[in-house]
Amino acid sequence: MSVQLTSEEAIQLEDNYGAHNYHPLPVVLNKGEGVFVWDCEGKKYYDFLSAYSAVNQGHCHPKIVKALTDQAQVLTLTSRAFYNDSLGPYEKYITEYFGFDKVLPMNTGAEAVETAIKLCRKWAYEKKNIKENEAKIIVCENNFHGRTTTIISFSNDEDARKNFGPYTPGFIKIPYNDIDALAEALKEENVAGFMVEPIQGEAGVYVPNDGYLAKTAKLCKEAGVLFIADEVQTGVARTGDLLAVHHEGVTPDILILGKAVSGGVYPVSAVFANNDIMNVIKPGQHGSTFGGNPLAAKVAVAALEVVQEENLAENAKTLGNLFRKEMNRIIDSSELVNSVRGRGLLNAILINDSEDSSTAWDICIKLRDNGLLAKPTHGNIIRFAPPLVMTEAQLMDCVTIIEKTLTEFKK
Ligand SMILES: *Cc1c(COP(=O)(O)O)cnc(C)c1O
Repeated sequence: MSVQLTSEEAIQLEDNYGAHNYHPLPVVLNKGEGVFVWDCEGKKYYDFLSAYSAVNQGHCHPKIVKALTDQAQVLTLTSRAFYNDSLGPYEKYITEYFGFDKVLPMNTGAEAVETAIKLCRKWAYEKKNIKENEAKIIVCENNFHGRTTTIISFSNDEDARKNFGPYTPGFIKIPYNDIDALAEALKEENVAGFMVEPIQGEAGVYVPNDGYLAKTAKLCKEAGVLFIADEVQTGVARTGDLLAVHHEGVTPDILILGKAVSGGVYPVSAVFANNDIMNVIKPGQHGSTFGGNPLAAKVAVAALEVVQEENLAENAKTLGNLFRKEMNRIIDSSELVNSVRGRGLLNAILINDSEDSSTAWDICIKLRDNGLLAKPTHGNIIRFAPPLVMTEAQLMDCVTIIEKTLTEFKK
């Protein structure tokens, strides 16, 4: 198995033996370091996706990899049938870091969203006395919260939903960035929570109006309904603050994190709440064999230390402002791109073409040829989300690549 594959061979193997549940850009990576990745033929690229914002700390960050390899030689998995001496220190560290009483450790983002839904429902029955099986959670149109059966039940992406029913009931869908719609929905009976992405990442980096998060959090508080922030993509410094809700001074009742909690080294997700909420979960009522294992705990502490030690939130803010300024300069003289939007280093450009055109995909292929990897979302949107360890000089190098690609692009 140690034979070096060509890119073509690697693609063929995935195509033959793997389920076709993704449509990857044709590039095969076999090495990563910081903001760079390399393909099988040794060509070097800037990574402008960061594994959907999981690799905020950069590829193979030495401190995080060391935490993994050190712990891997000592103890990897105990299950929660027993205590282990990595989990407690991790839980203390991460709850203080994000400012909550308690954390419930899971592995993937979708599992953490499921956990938040279960926690919210249980709280509603036991603390709010909602009639059993009647609790409702308000969610937003064009949301992305993961891929489980319950989560896709309240998606409005046809690909994600069709022929996967029957669906889980108990969700009310309202337009995103619409405060009046939330106020209306909160008048319904048996509402337990409102779950929202502070910026809709998968929808195409859709940033709500200023004040939306603060106002919706306030409405939830007045209605006695839990404000649940899914920061799996926006959290951990990506948007220029440690959490995207901090931009508006909001503290959610339940916070969901995943992706960059581990710097992309290991699947780690987490759900946070204070005691009055988290204590409704008792032994045997929820769990995961791998959740909170010693490897996850050590990796997450190292990854979160890196965020502070290297001032990644500050860097994301500064470079994000510069990036949007440069994109706007390019857009001013481009027919191809309509606008740029985003916050920190979570940004997207809107291509001047229809949603079902292949223009954004074709541009991403040219960007690849020119040494920068990005992925279209929804046909005419390209998301730009490099690792947050990028330097200003590297960012300007990337701006040059993007400008050259857009200038030379012909349909
Ligand atoms: C990626 C993502 C998830 C799902 O995380 P997985 O680890 O892929 O299960 C949930 N919510 C948001 C906002 C995400 O971006």
